[in-house]
Amino acid sequence: MGEVISPVDGAGIGVVPGCSVDDVDAAVSRAAAAFETWRHVAPGDRGRLLRRFAAQVDAHLEELALLEVRNAGHTIGNARWEAGNVRDVLDYYAGAPERLTGHQIPVPGGLDVTFHEPLGVVGVIVPWNFPMPIAGWGFAPALAAGNTVVLKPAELTPLTALRLADLARDAGLPDGVFTVLPGRGSVVGERFVTHPAVRKICFTGSTEVGTRIMAGCAAQVKRVTLELGGKSANIVFADADLEKAAATAPYAVFDNAGQDCCARSRILVQRRVYDRFLELLEPAVRAFRVENPARESAEMGPLISAAHRDRVAGYVDGADVAFTGSCPDGPGFWYAPTVLLAGSPADRHWREEVFGPVVSVLPFDDEADAIRLANDTEYGLSGSIWTRDVGRAVRVARAVESGNLSVNSHSSVRYWTPFGGMKRSGLGRELGPDALHAFTDVKNVFIGTEE
Ligand code: NAP
Ligand code: MG
Repeated sequence: MGEVISPVDGAGIGVVPGCSVDDVDAAVSRAAAAFETWRHVAPGDRGRLLRRFAAQVDAHLEELALLEVRNAGHTIGNARWEAGNVRDVLDYYAGAPERLTGHQIPVPGGLDVTFHEPLGVVGVIVPWNFPMPIAGWGFAPALAAGNTVVLKPAELTPLTALRLADLARDAGLPDGVFTVLPGRGSVVGERFVTHPAVRKICFTGSTEVGTRIMAGCAAQVKRVTLELGGKSANIVFADADLEKAAATAPYAVFDNAGQDCCARSRILVQRRVYDRFLELLEPAVRAFRVENPARESAEMGPLISAAHRDRVAGYVDGADVAFTGSCPDGPGFWYAPTVLLAGSPADRHWREEVFGPVVSVLPFDDEADAIRLANDTEYGLSGSIWTRDVGRAVRVARAVESGNLSVNSHSSVRYWTPFGGMKRSGLGRELGPDALHAFTDVKNVFIGTEE
């Protein structure tokens, strides 16, 4: 129970016992008590503590990164970015307490003001694919807004979250303000949902579990933010810089071994340039460096577990494989980057989230066809549009039902811009200037001034 396995070589790297419901209840009680103090810490002091937490993360960046390479199989380059992202998100929201201003609204007979009140204890539930950033996107704005946080890491990847909790304590965050509770989703996660003192759930994970969490939260009208799955389109028009589109497409889907909710896992190519695009894509896929993720040159590591590798392979069995890259043999949960040709939009690998290094390619005829195919999915998280026609870029960006789009680029995540999904990819937005409002309720106060 609770053994942590490295996906790089299948070796055991520690044992993390899971919390029980009683453990969760005790931690939530401490967090609820700490909230009464934390919410009244002066804004500047709360900001200073978060800045100190950021400095602790920065001072231990390499240690955190190496832990993630080992626990999650992330490349060292990505893992450093991820630890740096926790630092940056903390620094960004450290500036928020003094800026969490309300309105003063003109009314007759008095003064009307609004306050953004913290909610209380916030439960953050984190998946295994980006253990550090996704934790930080929840806890940093929640703490800045004056809430206390209980956080459940994924069972497969608890190590960096536990280390972050140590660093928070070393930075001087008071006891009970930020507590990491490892354990099972069906035990710890579900108790967050049912515990009446947990006033909000911030969940990232599968659409299936997220749907159940939303239903569970409804019983208490509990606030909920959901960041769920994706099946994002990378739309390449004939007038695009085809060389650049093809050279970058592998990074847009195989990064983190495709275990990325933003993976551009459906490539739509205008029929006129379909063959040429595949010709350009093949060498880029073959050159993609899949190797020990601790090596500085690694572009992709293993999948998270043996079971997940079997699941990914199940999508490729019987499909039309155009070409593949390579991967190491031996221990570890390796899978080579794989390009599939979709026969039609009904193909299972075209419709379902594979969450592995597998991309499906389909031709389209014109702009309307591209938009129709891109939107023919229950998901709506990210996507890319490649064209040199600025009018078309804007038209297609407005038409694709997705929360995060990029034009002639594949970037979706900056900590100071909003992030989140449309349709079944999620509810609410994280990051950026407005995320604070997801961790507060507006209170309106009227003060009569008549004698
Ligand atoms: P998952 O099975 O939904 O698990 C996510 C988290 O929820 C884990 O901590 C899990 O605990 C917990 N959990 C499981 N069942 C629960 C329950 N009944 N009540 C409360 N918590 C529960 O997802 P995953 O397999 O870890 O991650 C892959 C999925 O996440 C993909 O579909 C991907 O698209 C999505 N994702 C989305 C985003 C985004 O921002 N939109 C980001 C990353 C990942 P255990 O550790 O015990 O399973
Ligand atoms: Mg799961």
